[in-house]
Amino acid sequence: MAIRFLNTYTRTLEEFRPLDSARKTVKLYTCGPTVYNYAHIGNFRAYLFEDLLQRHLEASGYQVNRVMNLTDVDDKTIRGCHAAGLPLAEFTQKFKDAFFEDLKTLRVKPATTFPSATDPVYIARMIEMIAHLVEHECAYQAEDKSVYFRLNKFPDYGKLAHLNLDELRPSGRISNDEYEKESIGDFALWKAWDEADGDVVWDSPWGKGRPGWHIECSAMATALLGPEIDIHCGGVDNIFPHHEAEIAQSECCTGHRFVRYWLHCAHLMVEGQKMSKSAGNFYTLRDLLDKGWTGREIRYVLLSVNYRLPLNFTFESLAGARSALSRIDEWVARLTEKAGGELNASAHPLATQKRFQQALDDDLNISGALGVLFDVIRGSNRALDEGNLTPADARALLGWWDSANSVLQFQHEEEAIPQAVLDMLTARAAARAAKDWAQSDVLRAQIDAAGWIVKDSKDGQKLTRK
Ligand SMILES: [Zn+2]
Repeated sequence: MAIRFLNTYTRTLEEFRPLDSARKTVKLYTCGPTVYNYAHIGNFRAYLFEDLLQRHLEASGYQVNRVMNLTDVDDKTIRGCHAAGLPLAEFTQKFKDAFFEDLKTLRVKPATTFPSATDPVYIARMIEMIAHLVEHECAYQAEDKSVYFRLNKFPDYGKLAHLNLDELRPSGRISNDEYEKESIGDFALWKAWDEADGDVVWDSPWGKGRPGWHIECSAMATALLGPEIDIHCGGVDNIFPHHEAEIAQSECCTGHRFVRYWLHCAHLMVEGQKMSKSAGNFYTLRDLLDKGWTGREIRYVLLSVNYRLPLNFTFESLAGARSALSRIDEWVARLTEKAGGELNASAHPLATQKRFQQALDDDLNISGALGVLFDVIRGSNRALDEGNLTPADARALLGWWDSANSVLQFQHEEEAIPQAVLDMLTARAAARAAKDWAQSDVLRAQIDAAGWIVKDSKDGQKLTRK
């Protein structure tokens, strides 16, 4: 069976045929983070679905050239650097570093390229594209000195989001702050400098200013991947206006269809509610690590719901991930013991491998793929219990697990002890030195709740993963 994706553009399930199917290469563009803060778990849901996509394509024999941009200039980064009293580049570097660390924690394979919008190469490319659009009357400079895309030059605008363009293009001037534009839907390609920008500024043929967010992605995508891209991903929030704008700008510049397959993941909710700081249910990855959850557990939860469905993130689902992963760990340990030697990677149980792959081929149906995995675990555990599993079977199963895990990345690895747990250990050592046994027990329970077991020996406290 061929790989099929639900294409947001057509709203149909389409067989995946990349531009260069002979060489089996895939050009993949994924909108990256705005580096003004730590990324939250809603952001990571999108990055994990993209990781699953990349790893499944690679397991299917494709070579993936993936670009993920870093938005390091926009209203939020500018506000942030001014509030911190730092130059923009210094302010955003901290969050770029944190982002890369977070990707590692979640076992996300790094993109081939992580271009930054403020890289002079891409700023030059943005200016070049805007100049082309102005020259072809697809863009104009307004009274406020900013340059806008002229929407009525691109009749396909709205097709990705399935919106009616006429509704977006009311006649006449709408509101005071929009009076400079010819039409309300016209979006900024180049934003003229204003006081709030401070020293964040570039020269351009239209005067001093900075690029708009949408043109950043078009410039980096086409510069690194060429005029036509196989797959472009993001969250549903990106569809309108960001991805519509990317299509309009890119296609007016290059004359090619910009993207063949658009894939968008649905929203993430927390405990059934929209995640927001005011609701008190807003979590960065770091917040969850501080609570004692691991990157592997968070990866499991964020990955385990099909990307087109809304994901309800709960602490119960994290606990469920912890027990599912320990089932996998125990199963792998039992098979390893039974196999008693080297893996036999050539002896994959073919039927199982096929079912797992077919599930993912079907628009990345991860629930189906996990269903296959746990069927296999159940079946082989039973065979082990009954003494019906040979060392050769165990080796074959481990070989299959190796290939499945190349996509899932659920395999147990010796993990670093979280700082929060280390702090509790230190506090517990102090309590024990002071013979405060009650406090020592309280801390033991807290360490236990964080997923670790502490034992006391004559050499001090010993910590193991639950
Ligand atoms: Zn983008």
